[in-house]
Amino acid sequence: MAVSGESRIGSKTLRAPLMVSLVLFVFAAVAAGGTVLILTAMDKMAFHANTLDTQRAQQTASGALASFEQQMASATSDYSAWDDAAKAVYVDHDREWIEKNYGVFTGAGTLFDTYFLATATGETAMAYKEGSPFSSRFGDYFGSSFATLRAALEADMARGIYQKTGFVETVDGVAVVGIAAVRSSQGSLTVAKEKAIFVIFARHLNEAVINQLAHNYIIDGLRLVPKAPADRPFAAVRNSKGDILGAFVWDLREPGTRSYRQVLPMVGWGLIVIGLVLLGLLAFGIVIVRRLMADERAARQLSKEDLLSGLLNRAGLNDALDEIEAQAAMGRKDAVLIYLDLDRFKDVNDAYGHTVGDQLIRGVTAGLKHLLPKGAAFARIGGDEFAIALVCDDTEACCAAIEQAVIAFFREPLIIAGRLASVGASMGIAVSPQGVLGSAELLRRADMAMYRAKASRAGRAVYYQASMDEDREARMTMANDLRQALDRDALTVVYQPVFDAHTRIICGVEALVRWNRNGHGFVAPDVFIPIAEDNGLIGRIGEFVMRQALLEAANWPRISVAINISPLQLHDVSFVSSTAAIIEETGFPAERVILELTEGFFIRNPDRAKQSMAQLQRNGFRIALDDFGSGFSSVGYLREFGFDRLKIDRSLINALGKTPKAGDLLKATVALASSFDIPVTAEGIETPAQADYVSDCGCDELQGFFFSKPVSAGEISCLLEKAGWTASVA
Ligand code: C2E
Ligand code: CA
Ligand code: CA
Repeated sequence: MAVSGESRIGSKTLRAPLMVSLVLFVFAAVAAGGTVLILTAMDKMAFHANTLDTQRAQQTASGALASFEQQMASATSDYSAWDDAAKAVYVDHDREWIEKNYGVFTGAGTLFDTYFLATATGETAMAYKEGSPFSSRFGDYFGSSFATLRAALEADMARGIYQKTGFVETVDGVAVVGIAAVRSSQGSLTVAKEKAIFVIFARHLNEAVINQLAHNYIIDGLRLVPKAPADRPFAAVRNSKGDILGAFVWDLREPGTRSYRQVLPMVGWGLIVIGLVLLGLLAFGIVIVRRLMADERAARQLSKEDLLSGLLNRAGLNDALDEIEAQAAMGRKDAVLIYLDLDRFKDVNDAYGHTVGDQLIRGVTAGLKHLLPKGAAFARIGGDEFAIALVCDDTEACCAAIEQAVIAFFREPLIIAGRLASVGASMGIAVSPQGVLGSAELLRRADMAMYRAKASRAGRAVYYQASMDEDREARMTMANDLRQALDRDALTVVYQPVFDAHTRIICGVEALVRWNRNGHGFVAPDVFIPIAEDNGLIGRIGEFVMRQALLEAANWPRISVAINISPLQLHDVSFVSSTAAIIEETGFPAERVILELTEGFFIRNPDRAKQSMAQLQRNGFRIALDDFGSGFSSVGYLREFGFDRLKIDRSLINALGKTPKAGDLLKATVALASSFDIPVTAEGIETPAQADYVSDCGCDELQGFFFSKPVSAGEISCLLEKAGWTASVA
């Protein structure tokens, strides 16, 4: 069994593992989502905290710069609006006083580090730096920002404003500068505007100053960079025009990031714990899912397996066929399905019992299994039905090989439980070229081919042919017409007289059904009876014939009425009661009714046959074994079943004078029957010679065209009258 039943997964079967996986997935998704959410929130918080801190630092730095400038403004005011200074500058021209009170302060004080005295004409009158005089002119010492500041002051002086501060670039760096006209402490200029002398103070943003600012304003790492950075916050140092001379930057504290980093390990541990739990759950889930899947696989396997043989069952075959069809389609090869039905399996089962039957199935399974090519799917799809499905390269050779192997296998009798069992096999083969048919159609065709194989009893394989479908179609319409005929009471019954062999006087009739099919004429019972059997109509036909015959025979005195019974009718458990009901209904004496049965039923169901027969005989019917000599014709049945009469098949009569031993066979058969006290009817007598011969052999009743064809009930009445029988005699 190379194609396993599990290759296709049923949609329903995976529900439980799917649920478990789904729950795990949802759990994992929620955990992952939660984690992302928490991390995002933390990140946002950190960013926000960082931004707030940056803003604060920026404000502080800007404030420091502003207050730094403010300090210079106050110092400039204190040192320029000063009566003593005005006197020394304008009146006394006291250079010593000026040096002592201004110049020296550049070294001692913290308010400014550089000082210039500018004359009314704009000359540098004095220059001090860090406590010592130095030789520089303020025009050279300061950058262009200073000129702007000075121009602004000159413009403002008209409005009585005599001092200005602002950041400027100097030879030594960036400084806050205060420039003011020396004047009285009340703030008024004591000389004409054109004669005003200016003091210029500068305080550089040098390292010491910046460190002091950093310390005072608590700004870590405060430093001055020449250009405003693009990638970090800063506080710009601008001149009076607004140009950036430099920028304060500082170490970013990023408290958010820091707290984030502090918290992160904790979050990390939390996540690890969650992850571990999830992993545990996942492992647990995988184990559960695996187990569920294994269980389901086993269940599925079981549901696709035949317990007795271990082969695929019908469901398994369906799956395998789908796969084989797909394989064939893909490989552009043919998919082949072979149905195999054991002949006479039922006989073995009935004769030896089910245990032996089961052993036979196992034996056949084992035997056939290793005859099949690799990759073939092998299934048991019914009591004694098997199927082989495979993809073939060379279809003709492939099928022929299997057919030969199977036939050879069944040619040898099987030894089962110490008994010899001889069974055969009927095979139906259907081919799906390149897998185009689909498994359902392939199954149908193989089934039809096998049906034909069984019907032909030829013991060989039958290949499906399209004509079988047409045939089947024809049979179907015939079955429908027959059903309608039954519904409309369109069937009739004719009667073939049976004669006494000695007196040659009519002693009975055999009822035979007739069907005049609409538009087709009379259809032979040999044709429509099997169709009625196949389509579940035989019961109705049987009842109709029996009722009709017994009603019509009511006026016929004494003679017997024979009625043909299909084996299928006997299978029906209600048969015994329905015949009894017809007797009751028609009032015809059961003792004058002969039920003609063929041996098929006795072969297949000996026990049930015996029971039914005994019951029917108890009800008064007589039972004849019909068509003796046409089939298996086991003399054993005669003894075993206690028939009331034997009817020799017309094929045997027909063979008289044609086949050498036919006469002997006939004689021996009649002799045997009479040894069991069973009277014998010969049917199919067509010539006077045949009539004489069978009479001499000991047949006591004769029937055949030589005497009379089957005729209508009216004609039987005439015949009886002619023979001198009258109703009153009955
Ligand atoms: P059978 O039971 O063997 O019935 C006798 C058949 O042999 C009848 O054919 C009859 O017409 C034919 N026959 C009789 N004498 C001669 C003869 O000398 N020469 C030839 N060549 N044939 C002769 P029929 O009526 O066509 O019936 C054929 C078969 O159909 C019957 O064979 C029987 O098996 C079945 N059958 C007929 N009527 C019924 C019925 O009502 N119920 C059942 N279950 N089967 C029936
Ligand atoms: Ca008959
Ligand atoms: Ca017959």
